[in-house]
Amino acid sequence: MDVIFCYILLTLPFNFMSQETEHVECLIIGSGPAGYTAAIYAARADMKPVMYEGLQPGGQLTITTDVENYPGYPDGIMGPEMMDLFKKQAVRLGADVRFGMVTSVEFKNGGPQKVMVDGTKEIIAESVIISTGASAKWLGLPSEERLNGGGVSACAVCDGFFYRGSDVAIVGAGDTACEEAAYLSKICTKVYMIVRRDAFRASKAMQHRVQNTPNIEILFNSETDEILGDNVVEAVRVKNNITGEKREIPVKGFFVAIGHEPNTQIFKDYLNLDEQGYIITKPGTSYTNVEGVFCAGDAQDKVYRQAVTAAGSGCMAALDAERWLSAKHSAAAMA
Ligand code: NDP
Repeated sequence: MDVIFCYILLTLPFNFMSQETEHVECLIIGSGPAGYTAAIYAARADMKPVMYEGLQPGGQLTITTDVENYPGYPDGIMGPEMMDLFKKQAVRLGADVRFGMVTSVEFKNGGPQKVMVDGTKEIIAESVIISTGASAKWLGLPSEERLNGGGVSACAVCDGFFYRGSDVAIVGAGDTACEEAAYLSKICTKVYMIVRRDAFRASKAMQHRVQNTPNIEILFNSETDEILGDNVVEAVRVKNNITGEKREIPVKGFFVAIGHEPNTQIFKDYLNLDEQGYIITKPGTSYTNVEGVFCAGDAQDKVYRQAVTAAGSGCMAALDAERWLSAKHSAAAMA
């Protein structure tokens, strides 16, 4: 919220300046593995892509520490450094990567698409690739923010490995929390699952899986009172919301898996979204319901959510956009 507020304050003076319009062949909205990969492919296809990076250039990986599961980095790499390399590659190949925030869109089937940047600059784009990603939801505790990167994480698949052989805790009771608890149970000694109600939200199959894993202990009717530790997580204080009883559990990792929010609000009047706000793409492609608008990465993926899958879908979006544009230009030339 603070970041958005600061951004609005900083850009406010520019909102009174005259509006400029720019025509582009391929506009990429949002950075991160999906957006940068789309930019790399689109630049190589001579689509002269223009990318607006959004509020958090590089996306979710810039708040991760080591990335050890992205192929090609045998010794691992820090998330921010990896995104910097993605960006450098996109720029070297000719992508025009800009700092700026898309504030509204006007999409129409077949295009061209109208997009406003920072409320002042109008872009008319022949094709648009959306790669705005998703943001993890957090509990909102000060200790959670303070210890983020020091044992607090919203991605077990990314960070679980660092707590190999230790006890960890995970909050949430949906499919993600169950899947991540099951993943953690294979590398950690013990996994405490903190569930706020007396029931799971996850599918029955996932519930059974965690309930039948001996080193997962489920704490129903429980809330996180505080995460304890000076610089790194040392324990979690859990409160039973029926009895009021508090208990301190020593853990080295604390995972939050209470859902993600796709960054798709500005598209909701034009694109088909599912009930959680994820953009619906035609299966096996990056096509949205608006011809000429494509989507890649976590804005359309609530299942895999990995850097490598996001990058793969960014490649798909650039190839789809390029082929769609070529077909459109050929049809226009023949008319
Ligand atoms: P969900 O919204 O399904 O679940 C979120 C969970 O977090 C709920 O159990 C909720 O509790 C809990 N929660 C929310 N806020 C808090 C809070 N402040 N404190 C404590 N607990 C909280 O999110 P998921 O990410 O699990 O799943 C999103 C979607 O993706 C779902 O449709 C899911 O089925 C799907 N998915 C599918 C997978 C697959 O098919 N392999 C894998 C992962 C996800 P409560 O239940 O009390 O509301």
